[in-house]
Amino acid sequence: MVTGPSAPGAAGATPDAAGGGSAGAADRDERRRLAATVRDRLVASLAVVLDDRLLLERGVRPNYYDDGVVVSAFGLLERCPRRAARPAQDFVESVATARRRVGLAALRRIGDDASPATRVASAVDEVLADRSDLGLNLAEWIDQLDRAGRAAVAAGSTTWAGSVLRLVGRHPSIRWADPSSGSSWNVPARLVRVTASHDALTGSVRTGERLLVVADGAGGAGDRLRAGYLALVRSLGLQHAPRRITLAAPSRGELVRVEVDDALLTLAVDRVVEHVAYRADPDAAPPMPGRWCNHCHLLEVCDAGRASRWTRPSSGPDR
Ligand code: SF4
Repeated sequence: MVTGPSAPGAAGATPDAAGGGSAGAADRDERRRLAATVRDRLVASLAVVLDDRLLLERGVRPNYYDDGVVVSAFGLLERCPRRAARPAQDFVESVATARRRVGLAALRRIGDDASPATRVASAVDEVLADRSDLGLNLAEWIDQLDRAGRAAVAAGSTTWAGSVLRLVGRHPSIRWADPSSGSSWNVPARLVRVTASHDALTGSVRTGERLLVVADGAGGAGDRLRAGYLALVRSLGLQHAPRRITLAAPSRGELVRVEVDDALLTLAVDRVVEHVAYRADPDAAPPMPGRWCNHCHLLEVCDAGRASRWTRPSSGPDR
């Protein structure tokens, strides 16, 4: 079930508050059954579309990133199958990519007895000063920033964390996620790994997890897929389906709650299988032109993209 906007900062906006109650053994069994069912469905469907491709080799240490397929929410939500099948390899850190991780590390410090920080801005300053809460790559990137660059990261991170906190509210049951880790699961016998990350968590496997992810995109159908994919990866990793995924969109002041059920997980399985099939055979992935073509790394070699009515004349290589 998808629910609409919640009042920012209201008690009901916490990821835990709307569900309530402890889960009994029957509920736990049902969440375990859901996870097992979806695992079997994913493994069987991948076997059909992959056949003998992307199989692990006995005695060979698997390298999922170089030789296999690593699925992320970013790739899964990509609207053009051709671009999803040939993802860009040009990731560089920026304020836009760093602010979530710095912001999360700051939120973890607020209320932590080991930190004196009670406000977002001071917690961000602490995080940027010692950097031990951040992954190695991000810490090194911040190390080499000049004063203006650090100020930009501080401002972006403070805005991110502050807007999330205003929307979600402060609640002792909320556990903010470790920004340097996420959930992942390796498909048995295949060079396929699914990965996902959340931003906050309440509950537990025993009582039923409620995960929150900041998803400040356009909303709509993508929200349900994003929620389903996070629920799927979590289900596979913990062998228990979470109870609910909440999508927080600070720019719209919305919290969208999606209950986890078989239909939601099936939606995600179907998309993962389609995505992995395209990644395994990129030539079979059809183009889907749209306004996103203007920023596509494949535009130069994509006739459909260059011919699309969305492509700005000035962005085509031949014009
Ligand atoms: S240019 Fe457009 S249609 Fe072509 S691969 Fe990129 S996003 Fe897809």
